[in-house]
Amino acid sequence: MSKEVRVRFAPSPTGPLHIGGVRTALYNYLFARKMGGKFLLRIEDTDQNRFVPGAEEYIKESLAWLGISPDESPWNPGDTGPYRQSERKQSYMQYALDLVEAGHAYYAFDTSEELEAMRERLEAARVVQPQYNSISRTQMKNSLTLPEAEVKERLASGDPYVIRVKIPRKEEVRLNDMIRGWVMVQSATLDDKVLMKSDGMPTYHLANIVDDHQMRITHVIRGEEWLPSAPLHVLLYKFFGWEDSMPQFAHLPLLLKPDGNGKLSKRDGDKLGFPVFPINWENKVTGETAAGFREQGYFSDAFLNFLAFLGWNPGDEREIFTLDELIDAFSVERIGKSGTKFDIAKAKWFNEQYLRAKSNAELAPYVIADAAAEGITILPETAEAIVSLTKDRVTFPAELWKGSKFMVEAPSTFDEAIAGKRWNADAVTVLTAYAETLEGYTGEFDAEKAKAMLGETAEAKEIKLGKVMQAVRLAVTGVGAGPDLMEIFAILGTEEVAKRIRFALATLEVIG
Ligand code: GLU
Repeated sequence: MSKEVRVRFAPSPTGPLHIGGVRTALYNYLFARKMGGKFLLRIEDTDQNRFVPGAEEYIKESLAWLGISPDESPWNPGDTGPYRQSERKQSYMQYALDLVEAGHAYYAFDTSEELEAMRERLEAARVVQPQYNSISRTQMKNSLTLPEAEVKERLASGDPYVIRVKIPRKEEVRLNDMIRGWVMVQSATLDDKVLMKSDGMPTYHLANIVDDHQMRITHVIRGEEWLPSAPLHVLLYKFFGWEDSMPQFAHLPLLLKPDGNGKLSKRDGDKLGFPVFPINWENKVTGETAAGFREQGYFSDAFLNFLAFLGWNPGDEREIFTLDELIDAFSVERIGKSGTKFDIAKAKWFNEQYLRAKSNAELAPYVIADAAAEGITILPETAEAIVSLTKDRVTFPAELWKGSKFMVEAPSTFDEAIAGKRWNADAVTVLTAYAETLEGYTGEFDAEKAKAMLGETAEAKEIKLGKVMQAVRLAVTGVGAGPDLMEIFAILGTEEVAKRIRFALATLEVIG
């Protein structure tokens, strides 16, 4: 039997989850489902300085909104918990000590002043990237350079120390990335990263590797920003003797600014007026806020569909995919290597497609609720009629009611600019005659009939309908543009349309 596929999404709760993080979660989820495996969520909260209250809840709510909830997480643990690194704290030290014991890590006692002095020394010697590595470590205060007795003495007396990985001086580190293929790095370019900090907490690198191993992770699918860390991770698997169960890596392409120049940031969203977070965020301590796709009116399924295409494609022309269809079509091989430009117009396009695919009855509650917020009660039939009129013209459900008030209330004012341009003698002639016709009419009245009657009226007066059409709209709706006017007439009925025309005729002053 082949090994169960287990992937994890491992965010650090340092703020709202960026859209790139949500995409990482989605790809992990799709891969797990596709392979019949498990999708885990691990909260990487070992860096206490960067901890932000509410961030963990935010992650939970975002994933729940999108319907990609984990199989194992702090809230629904499996057998490899706990799922918060802060709760796994006690296990890491032993692993670090094991590495020290095996000669793959060492204690380092250097003070920050000493580290700074080393940096200055290396810079003065024109070393391009001054770092604590296989060469510079020989000049520093660590268990490789100090006499054993002194090391023991320092440890016993509680001298502050960190544990660093001992990177071999000359070794080629190789990893076969599922997206990028073979990646090769010379160990001389790597530094002796800290594994255990002086506060007794592990760094990301140690905790991440230990946890992935203990949680039986088979594939690590994460953002490209972690690719430079991957060689160190490969070495750690080797040092621990876990090479056989080392997960396969897949580093996802970056999400780029709309112009393609650099990584997409919150600032880009603020500047260009679109969200880069799934749901609204508020930092309760600092008061900092950020806008979310959900609150802007994006449907979760449309947003997911959009997200899936930010770096992946099915290899054919299809674009609209339900979550199940995405699972079916997904493959890591079809994830691109190069960065993906973020295009908010595409997100809107997806939302429009999903909005149009929904039935009028499904969308009617938005209209009812939005009208109710303005103190207007709307019947479900009316709400559905409004939806059917507007749904092909809008991007978000909130736009269905916005601008539709005239459907339930006659306008009391009229767009002055339009009136100033269009309310001429011809318009008055046609509208007066049309009102009369409507008042005397008792037969079936639908959009076609409304149009035919209006056309005949204009023709009888020898006035081109096109010339007065905007004035007709103005009289009945108060504004110069909107959904199909004849459909509006059909919904309002002859009596209401005639009444509105009469009011406009009595209110507006004829130009020229
Ligand atoms: N905690 C890391 C992050 O915040 C996880 C990176 C990884 O998946 O290894 O992205």
